[in-house]
Amino acid sequence: MKKIPYGKQTVDDSDIDTIVDVLRSDWLTQGPKVPQFEREIARYCGASYSVATNSATSALHVACLALGVGEGDSVWTSANTFVASANCALYCGATVDFVDIDKRTANICPEKLEEKLRVAEVAGKLPKVVIPVHFAGQSCDAKKIWELSKRYGFSVIEDASHALGATYENSKVGSCKYCDVTVFSFHPVKIITTGEGGVAVTNDSSLCDLMRAYRSHGITSESDKMELRSASQVWNYQQILLGYNYRMSDLHAALGLCQLQKADAFVAARRRIASRYYESFVALSIPTLVQDLDFSSFHLFQIKARDLGVDQKHLYDYLRANGVLVNIHYIPVYMHPYYQKLGFRQGYCPEAERHFSECLSLPIYFELSDVEQSYVLDLIRAGLDT
Ligand SMILES: *Cc1c(COP(=O)(O)O)cnc(C)c1O
Repeated sequence: MKKIPYGKQTVDDSDIDTIVDVLRSDWLTQGPKVPQFEREIARYCGASYSVATNSATSALHVACLALGVGEGDSVWTSANTFVASANCALYCGATVDFVDIDKRTANICPEKLEEKLRVAEVAGKLPKVVIPVHFAGQSCDAKKIWELSKRYGFSVIEDASHALGATYENSKVGSCKYCDVTVFSFHPVKIITTGEGGVAVTNDSSLCDLMRAYRSHGITSESDKMELRSASQVWNYQQILLGYNYRMSDLHAALGLCQLQKADAFVAARRRIASRYYESFVALSIPTLVQDLDFSSFHLFQIKARDLGVDQKHLYDYLRANGVLVNIHYIPVYMHPYYQKLGFRQGYCPEAERHFSECLSLPIYFELSDVEQSYVLDLIRAGLDT
């Protein structure tokens, strides 16, 4: 039996041809494709600048560095996310803390964030940066978080790894109207793929310059940024800070350019699949994560097992045994053994823990056929009857 995963890339002949063209060209990396991809991504999102990297994790790291995160600083993120949203703070020598979620959307809860900020202000421990995550492809309450950032003096990096093609108010996620930097991932399960890859977009040119420097060894080749200026200098580049090799290659960027042209079609297909799931689950009284069909990019589609009176683990095992590779997103970051050793304890973010114990991510991706989706739905129906 063919397995049906929860998510999967779509790569067609045009993607393959574009990579072959790069292989036959003079530039495998640091050629014309990366800057072209950066321009196109920024344009797609409606932002001014973008910095392409070899992963979203690297993009989160350079964004934190460019915003000045370092030792003695604190970075806050949602408890319900992939570990990378928190690890980027630790890479900078900062500490990390977690905010609980809104149970309807599983996004960071703005009221809980505000409450936590009030307490932190009294204790003199306000965060330097807050990293909200647009969980499953649906924007968090970005405007409210941006207002809080002005009141309490922190910067905002949106982790939009799930949300390329999503809309918030009247703008694409990534327009950076309500944040300093937005980060996207191009890992194969995400909306579009470059194999491995990510990008940081921003409207702030100095943040862009800094992220660019951190991405490539801290090296600049622009004469006005160089610090060594002797009459006899022959430097055509200088290292001005300690950066990394987080560059995207031209091979990856070429794939990204080709994929980006299909982003809207990918999201439209995901919305169609989501709409069919909603119809069926409303009829079956199966509770789901709340997402908006016109706004979310539907990286994930989740049902909630617990309120059904069925055990999450039971449903998970049953669907997997029948070839439907459902998944669980996410174990709250602080429950991982590494974070437990940092002193976090179970019970810290009760809503995120509850979500973890009841959610199931169902198959949703461009190539999921009607027949396959019907199979998933029939299995779930049959599973509930037994
Ligand atoms: C996938 C993902 C990342 C990491 O992306 P990579 O490109 O694999 O580094 C970060 N945050 C979230 C929420 C993700 O889903």
